[in-house]
Amino acid sequence: MRTLTILGSTGSIGGQTLDVVAAHPERLRVLAIAGRNRERLAAQARRFAVPLVGIAADAQAGALPAGFPDGTRVLWGHQALERLATHPAADVVVVATVGRAGLDATLAAVRAGKRVAIANKEVLVMAGAVITAEAAAHGATIVPIDSEHSALWQCLLGEDRGGVGALLLTASGGALRDCDPATLEGITPEEALRHPTWVMGPKITVDCATLMNKGLEVLEAHWLFDVPMERIRVVMHPSSVVHALVQFRDGTLKAQLGVPDMKVPIQFALSYPERWTAAAPTLDLVAASPLVFAEPPPGRYPCLDLALQAGRQGGTYPAVLCGADEVAVQLFLQRRIRFTDIPRLIGAALERHVPGDERDIEQIIAADAWARDECRRQAAV
Ligand code: NAD
Ligand code: MG
Repeated sequence: MRTLTILGSTGSIGGQTLDVVAAHPERLRVLAIAGRNRERLAAQARRFAVPLVGIAADAQAGALPAGFPDGTRVLWGHQALERLATHPAADVVVVATVGRAGLDATLAAVRAGKRVAIANKEVLVMAGAVITAEAAAHGATIVPIDSEHSALWQCLLGEDRGGVGALLLTASGGALRDCDPATLEGITPEEALRHPTWVMGPKITVDCATLMNKGLEVLEAHWLFDVPMERIRVVMHPSSVVHALVQFRDGTLKAQLGVPDMKVPIQFALSYPERWTAAAPTLDLVAASPLVFAEPPPGRYPCLDLALQAGRQGGTYPAVLCGADEVAVQLFLQRRIRFTDIPRLIGAALERHVPGDERDIEQIIAADAWARDECRRQAAV
């Protein structure tokens, strides 16, 4: 029996993590959940008899909020996440929050030596150097939930890391891949949110349309698998059937294929080293044919270029990338900036940033905060 803390349980990945728990009640148990949507948290607490709940809102003194089962303990505020992530009874901490929100709790879980199943990729992009160093120092294991990284992990199992030549991440191209670049300026949030192959939270869906998501994933892969940025490539693959590939020094390519269903990589992060039956259908290779691959069209995805540039520059540039992207996407979804302003604002923040040390968490946090302010300031101009 594995006992889970699920941070961001009310979101897309968090909800699917609970679906996996529901499919394997004899193997998985939920100790704690946390998120922002109180009604959904209460429903999850009832359904899974969860004893501990974190609500990401300011502390409210007094009685249990309406809807929670008797006996549930509710923790309030930002620090609730850290407390739930370090609870001695939690074996696995699933980080399914989005953006900066999961950073402190991830660090706390790593320092507590947990198995940390990470979906919240921005945390690794911002602070990969600190998180991987702390994981090594405290005996924590970081396992990916992101489908491409789960695929890389599976391709690398049992392999000598010295034999790895390159990592290849596939990209669907997102909601706007077939749209005329001249029309991008007038794209609405509704159009950017219509992803062709995956149903996900709003921030990552917009990140897929700009390909920022793939840029973040290159940095995520760099930190998870300790492979230099120059040896991680992006390949366009519209149907999201091949999730990622590892190219070995002898020329062999190993790929992981499957239906686009996040419950499969979520389950593997929880079941590893075992494989359990999954509710997802098995991939029909014939129906999925032909498999098509292409180079990313040069100049079409400025956010991908910015992410790769920030990754190469290192230091606190990736934290600025994440902070600026989170604010820019939010402003776009609020219809306060245009779709094409997203790379413009991120690029301006990166340009003006005075970099700090990637191994210093205070400098990373300060760079993220600076980028958010800078992005809001530029947007108001
Ligand atoms: P989502 O928006 O659906 O869910 C985010 C969750 O985080 C919600 O439960 C929300 O309440 C919670 N949250 C947000 N801010 C919080 C705060 N300050 N404190 C506590 N909780 C907070 O997002 P998602 O699509 O589930 O994505 C989560 C992460 O997983 C992202 O980093 C995303 O890039 C990554 N990811 C998602 C998918 C997918 O299919 N959805 C696939 C791969 C990777
Ligand atoms: Mg992914």
